[in-house]
Amino acid sequence: MNTPTKQQQWEQEHLWHPYAAMPSQSRVYQVLSAEGIYLTLENGKEVMDGMSSWWCAIHGYNVPELNLAVETQLKSMAHVMFGGLTHQPAIDLAKTLVHITPQPLQHVFFADSGSVAVEVALKMAIQYWRGIKQPKKTKFLSLRHAYHGDTLAAMSVCDPESSMHHLFAETMPKHHFTDVDAKSIKKQLEKHHHEIAALIIEPIVQGAGGMSFYNKTLLSEMRALCDEFDVLLIADEIATGFGRTGELFACNHANISPDIMCIGKALTGGYMTLAATLCSSQISHGIHQQKGNVLMHGPTFMANPLACAVAKASIDLLLSSPWQQRVQTIAQQLNQGLAPAKQLPQVADVRVLGAIGVIEMKENINMDKIQSFLLEQGIWLRPFGKLLYTMPPFILDKQDVAKLTQAMCSAAALA
Ligand SMILES: *Cc1c(COP(=O)(O)O)cnc(C)c1O
Repeated sequence: MNTPTKQQQWEQEHLWHPYAAMPSQSRVYQVLSAEGIYLTLENGKEVMDGMSSWWCAIHGYNVPELNLAVETQLKSMAHVMFGGLTHQPAIDLAKTLVHITPQPLQHVFFADSGSVAVEVALKMAIQYWRGIKQPKKTKFLSLRHAYHGDTLAAMSVCDPESSMHHLFAETMPKHHFTDVDAKSIKKQLEKHHHEIAALIIEPIVQGAGGMSFYNKTLLSEMRALCDEFDVLLIADEIATGFGRTGELFACNHANISPDIMCIGKALTGGYMTLAATLCSSQISHGIHQQKGNVLMHGPTFMANPLACAVAKASIDLLLSSPWQQRVQTIAQQLNQGLAPAKQLPQVADVRVLGAIGVIEMKENINMDKIQSFLLEQGIWLRPFGKLLYTMPPFILDKQDVAKLTQAMCSAAALA
């Protein structure tokens, strides 16, 4: 590594990055611009983004349709408050979301990030049970390896080990956890259903908690168990929504509908921060059962017009593209291309679902070393823990995927 420049030194001492120390210990790379599937780094080098900027940029970068949506909206207004005011971008996007999500989800709350959308979902569930006079139901049931965000309540339903619950033990509410199988879930519900407001899950793919997949039968069973024990089902589709797993939403794999659904990440095609929480009429009616009760949340930047406009454009672009075929093709090629890594003694598992490819190592990955090796190969990835994984934009062609998987296999061999 070269000696840091003055600016790099200043940044290391003043500017926090995600999950980082201050002053910073690890290397960051400056991006000058992004176009298609490529990031241009400070040395002028172009690298393929295999991360879609943390699952978001499903169409790649500098997308003409999305640029146009932002520019057009900017000419009328960048933002107005949503309290007492409304605007077309919010209405149009909400209509689209009600239309494309499972039918019972009819009501939309716009939040400014995924974690906040999860907070809103948890509050909806608690207010629902209060509204229908079952105020004891205030706890949540969550899965091992779950990840639902970084704010305190969202973190309290994350896996206790990977999200470092012990650091916040005194301030965080305590909830129930279960292994990711129907028997354990049933056991927890039998024991605690009288105090459980909802089961919160990431359907089919558990993302930041370990990039693990479970089958659609289990998803159906979860829905059935929630019905049996009178517990709501919250589906956190923030990572899985908008085609990533091969279905528009992961709940569609099992044809189930949650009572409450969170979406975010790819919602705006990676252009701006925006998330949403949707719920069924049963939930909204329950919350408002007692006269005067309202949903107690209202972010300053709720339904930001620029973000809503670009989200609508991103969904239109996705739905007018052969996205399902693209994701299927990427899945096949990831399967083929990552298969050789299975032979490596240092590799524990290789798995693929939709446009998600994972090489799980037996030991933790030296991120700085592997990242700089991958950059030499022209690839941007950000491994974590034992996981070397990709969630590329859906616009990768055959050669792109081949280059990506070759680099990943070589990196795994080096690790
Ligand atoms: C990323 C993520 C979140 C948190 O979203 P932020 O926008 O980072 O707050 C919540 N749930 C899941 C499943 C996620 O992948």
